[in-house]
Amino acid sequence: MTSPQLLHTQSQIEFSRAKRLMPGGVNSAARAFGAVGGDPLVFESGQGAYLFDVDGNRYIDYIGSWGPMIFGHQFDPVKKAVHAAVDRGTSFGAPTVAENELAELLIEAVPSVEMVRLVNSGTEATMSAIRVARGYTGRDIIIKFSGNYHGHVDSLLVAAGSAAATLGVPNSPGVTAGTSQDTMVLRYNDVTGLEAAFRSHGDQIAAVILEPVCGNMGCVIPTTEFLNSTRALTEQFGSVLIFDEVMCGFRVARGGAQERFGITPDMTTMGKIVGGGLPLAVFGGKREIMEHVLPAGKVFQAGTLSGNPIATAAGIAMLKSLRDEPPYEYLETLSQRLADGLTAAADSAGVEHCLQRVGSMMTLFFHPGPVADWDSAARSNTAQFSRYFWGLIERGVYMPCSQFEALFVSAAHSIEDIDHTIAMATEVLANF
Ligand SMILES: *Cc1c(COP(=O)(O)O)cnc(C)c1O
Repeated sequence: MTSPQLLHTQSQIEFSRAKRLMPGGVNSAARAFGAVGGDPLVFESGQGAYLFDVDGNRYIDYIGSWGPMIFGHQFDPVKKAVHAAVDRGTSFGAPTVAENELAELLIEAVPSVEMVRLVNSGTEATMSAIRVARGYTGRDIIIKFSGNYHGHVDSLLVAAGSAAATLGVPNSPGVTAGTSQDTMVLRYNDVTGLEAAFRSHGDQIAAVILEPVCGNMGCVIPTTEFLNSTRALTEQFGSVLIFDEVMCGFRVARGGAQERFGITPDMTTMGKIVGGGLPLAVFGGKREIMEHVLPAGKVFQAGTLSGNPIATAAGIAMLKSLRDEPPYEYLETLSQRLADGLTAAADSAGVEHCLQRVGSMMTLFFHPGPVADWDSAARSNTAQFSRYFWGLIERGVYMPCSQFEALFVSAAHSIEDIDHTIAMATEVLANF
């Protein structure tokens, strides 16, 4: 069976127009198809597990807006809450009851978080969290891990290719050496490297920030030993442990990776799911640390639209649904089925691969695996990934447009959607 190629005429027209108006035709670099070649599709609507492009093609969606859509598109409780909020006014720049409700839901779900501040994006959350960690400890150095993405914060926009512990070198033009000189970049899952960094700089380290399940180099799973050492060393040296759960929070468990792995960080950042698809993110943590945030404390932080009533209403509806009708068991069943099916498809095609998954986040790496860090992820066969990606697009399956992104399964996917996806992937890989 060969599926007909889909037509993308209208997408091409709109994207050419966009390229004249916006750099690269997009408002977020992650949306461009740079890594797979070709132009992005332009979308008109989403419903449940499906996206519809401007040419009227339907796709089974495995991006879910890069994470937020854990219940699929146009999830009824969120949609209703947003409609109702719009009718009360779109922004007040003053306290509302809804902010209290959302804060209570967050604190109840993620026990390490005793106080929160609401912001508008994951970038803002991590930027603020490291400022607070620095203000709280009176220290400068931040440790991050290569391949971990924390938004486009200048001092965190350092990926570094080196396996050794080196003081950061910026890799985006516009990020000054001064901004990133206090960022140390280490290798994910490298306990020895982390120990060495603490031995040499321990009393200057303000914070260690990491994705406790990594999605931004493809799905990479921390070892128990690695997570335990981040906790033990930060505790020993009085540094702040920040779990960046912008992607994995409410995704790999309601209480995030910290619940799943039983590790308690000092601070947590969350985004994506917590805003139910609207611009909302959070940083929070121990009361003792959060009380350093202005105006309770002295670390500056503010935002005109922070705690926006529409975003807050969407977040409340989302978190209540996750509490009252937890989708995690169903997601596990679907995700296991998809992972098994994709693995079998790659096996029977004889393509080198390894599938890594935590809950409903997963990546099929075109690499024999295991992929434990950026160095191993970077050895994946990205040419094969591109063929896989485009083969699936032509068959109505919309996967992340990079080998180095995780796909997301939503509770709106059906067993039939999963089985259809597996059949399409089998067809694509068989033609390799
Ligand atoms: C998406 C993401 C961010 C950035 O969030 P934005 O809302 O895109 O600014 C930060 N950290 C992680 C782990 C993410 O996945």
